[in-house]
Amino acid sequence: MGAQIDLLNLDRQELEQALVDLGAPRYRGRQVFRWLYRGGATDFAAMTNLGREVREKLATVFTIAFPAMASQQTSSDGTTKFLLALADARHIEAVFIPDTPSQTFCISTQVGCAIGCTFCLTGKMGLTRHLTAGEIAGQVRLLAPATGLAAAPFNIVLMGMGEPLHNYDATMKALGILADEEGLAMPPRRMTLSTVGILPALERLATAPLMPNLAISLHATTDELRSQLVPINRRYPLKDLLDVCRRFPLARRRRITFEYVLLDRVNDTPEDARRLVRLLHGIKAKVNLMPLNEAAGIPFKRPSDERVNAFARLLAERDVRVMVRKSRGRDIRAACGQLIIESERRSAGQALAAEMK
Ligand code: SAH
Ligand code: SF4
Repeated sequence: MGAQIDLLNLDRQELEQALVDLGAPRYRGRQVFRWLYRGGATDFAAMTNLGREVREKLATVFTIAFPAMASQQTSSDGTTKFLLALADARHIEAVFIPDTPSQTFCISTQVGCAIGCTFCLTGKMGLTRHLTAGEIAGQVRLLAPATGLAAAPFNIVLMGMGEPLHNYDATMKALGILADEEGLAMPPRRMTLSTVGILPALERLATAPLMPNLAISLHATTDELRSQLVPINRRYPLKDLLDVCRRFPLARRRRITFEYVLLDRVNDTPEDARRLVRLLHGIKAKVNLMPLNEAAGIPFKRPSDERVNAFARLLAERDVRVMVRKSRGRDIRAACGQLIIESERRSAGQALAAEMK
């Protein structure tokens, strides 16, 4: 049975074609797609308008590999972190953040991350593997009912584990599946892709038919510092990144968000703030300041509120739109950059030993 195809990994057109290839009429594919994303079906038996024979045949050719909920933890502020198990027993995390002001799911695009930003715990894991489109879209499909949200509008941000543009094809396919009007019908303006700026992929995104909001993880105003914090800056330096941003096609009234993790006395000086204003000149930008979420093994400190506010004020006084991101779910380690799967870093024996301690 190893060759079974995961239905969640097919967009609607592919699913329709797969059923046509099996001798079924094209509308059957649309029915199955609706069952998966609207009807809440997690197996073929639930697809009651299909007829038993069709269902049994489908079950021999296809599988439906939803991530499985391994555990969930809710923070004192209502943020819920989900640990999800994939079909190959790897784990990822996804986070549900209520009322920010609207509801938001933060989802993962990779198991781990290859970029290795020096303030990020996920970066310390290294990359285990890319997620498939089905695993990316499946997080939303699984969590929307789990949080009672299926019917209400919500946002998704690709800010969980992984660098979405390093897994471009699967990520964009997943967004297409989520946007499909026969399924969850999410408007692209409710989706935000956050990236360190892998330039060839960013150029591709600029011409993509489905355009999510763009967030660029900037974090520094000189190449020297950015290369230390975000090592891929050595390959795609600031000037090139900002040139691409400047040319990036934006829908009316949209802005590129620039994310800036504030590290005490590293990138939070008035000089940094002034340089940031200059760098963003001519870009329809807004800045999202994120005071560092500290963690053991991360060699930086979170600046004081005074330093954070002073930095924000310098930007605002120069007419740069700025907001300070309230950190959510820190008590359960669900905040930005705190997503890490311990077991992915340990051998089975080490994990067992730790459990027995
Ligand atoms: N890889 C993508 C998306 C996932 S990270 C990216 O880097 O953009 C989502 C956001 O969390 C990024 O802006 C990242 O810089 C930020 N982040 C990572 N570690 C953090 C930490 N320790 N404290 C605060 N924000 C952090
Ligand atoms: Fe990867 Fe983003 Fe973490 Fe950098 S901040 S290591 S790109 S997940």
